[in-house]
Amino acid sequence: MMSSRRKQSRSIAWVPTAPVGRPGARGVDADKPATQGTARANLASVQSGRHPLSNATENTRLFDYEQRTKAAFDAIVPTLKQISGLQHEADFERRAQALAQEQLGFALPATILADAWVTQLDMRRLFAWCVFQTYQRFCDDFFTNSFLSRLETEFQTFLIECGFHTLDISPCADGRLAHVISYVLRLPHKAVRRKSYAGAMFDIEDSIEKWTETELQRFREGIPTTADMPTRYMKTVVYHFSSSDPEHEGCAAHGSDAGRAAQGGLERLKAFQTAVENSFCCGASIDLMLIGLDTDNDTIRIHMPDRHGEIDLKRYLDAGDLYDATLSMQAAQAQEYVSEQVRQAGGEMSNGMQRLMGYLLVNNFSQIEYVRQYYDGRYRDIGHAERFIGAGIGFEEVQLRNLTYFAYMQTVEEAAADLDVGIKIFSKLNVSHGLPIPLVVRFDYHGQVPGARERAVGHCQRVDAALNDRYADLASNGLLHTLQVVRDCHAGGRIEVIGTSVMDEVTEEAH
Ligand SMILES: [Zn+2]
Repeated sequence: MMSSRRKQSRSIAWVPTAPVGRPGARGVDADKPATQGTARANLASVQSGRHPLSNATENTRLFDYEQRTKAAFDAIVPTLKQISGLQHEADFERRAQALAQEQLGFALPATILADAWVTQLDMRRLFAWCVFQTYQRFCDDFFTNSFLSRLETEFQTFLIECGFHTLDISPCADGRLAHVISYVLRLPHKAVRRKSYAGAMFDIEDSIEKWTETELQRFREGIPTTADMPTRYMKTVVYHFSSSDPEHEGCAAHGSDAGRAAQGGLERLKAFQTAVENSFCCGASIDLMLIGLDTDNDTIRIHMPDRHGEIDLKRYLDAGDLYDATLSMQAAQAQEYVSEQVRQAGGEMSNGMQRLMGYLLVNNFSQIEYVRQYYDGRYRDIGHAERFIGAGIGFEEVQLRNLTYFAYMQTVEEAAADLDVGIKIFSKLNVSHGLPIPLVVRFDYHGQVPGARERAVGHCQRVDAALNDRYADLASNGLLHTLQVVRDCHAGGRIEVIGTSVMDEVTEEAH
């Protein structure tokens, strides 16, 4: 198990005062007296590869969910290939439906199958239809069964104890970071704000709007803390890189350059902080955190401050190093070790900030173990393997790695760059194999606001039209298909399908 240790470039690594994570670092407690029972327990933990602070039960549950969901999407192509081979058989429709039911769990639209008698079966349409159908089932499943629900109130209390009333995270829109909240950081997705952008280059105006809304709510309603409490808004950026193929599988928006990705994230964070400080008086400010993610194995690094208290691009704590250094320890000892490392590296950082960082690093231990246990320490799909593009506002249900490429937007123009990156990724993934790009246009709305649903529907239709216009070549060749959905996020219910390019009557057929 341990042979799968990360082999990453250490060129910009900052080594903390203790020799964390270097070869032999697991011997840090070797000279400490241990009872025989403890030694045996520690040995067992090393042999099974289980870290005392990792959550094995949760890992089993998360893996089951990930497998099940991805298997549903991945069954589509093989099933359609089989169906395609049957199209000249006498009882084609019956056999095709039986196969679809058995392998995909739903029936195919009779109108598309019926075409097989007249012309060739339209596999592009059928493929898009199946992806959208699977997406709908995945959403219904998520909002009905809430597999990923964690203790939100408990986390909110912890966050406030650390001195923060909001945790706002902007990861890159890359699908390899789509699971960053629920898996990589093991946070309750409902208690964290996630907004993804290509290259994690978040929109400053949008963040200011959220900040203002948050502060107003504290002032008006005392939620989540009253305005007189000295808690702060925490803005976090998650950039990414690939340790095994740094030149190609890093962040596309930053030319696969980890240094540039980190730098870009930091600049955006500082700009947001300055914007808040300059726009609002009375010492208004926010706290910042910069996290790097190795998308090959989900290990995080948290950047530490320099002598002046500014985030330092060259100094960080690597959760993988800490994991290895504490693997043979007992839980309390391992916890203390992590806290001590953060304390030593943290300088003048507040205790709350140190606690939150220690918490995130330890949470990441479970994910490091997850990848080691189920993927041999490194994902097989270190590159892109998203199943669809998600454009608009919402997608709370997407908490799985490499499932969705995000393009958050109100209008196509403002997100054109993000969308183009997504279309480029899918041109390789799908179009080059003759498969269309499935794109879900989604707008969530607050149902208690009069007219909100109608506006969300309007947004959907406008964005859908603009997409078909921008990528007219793809669309006219059946290589871009869209599904339009809205959702009342206030009611917390299911998604509602408004329309699709695949066929008009998809809503009726689907349910
Ligand atoms: Zn990226």
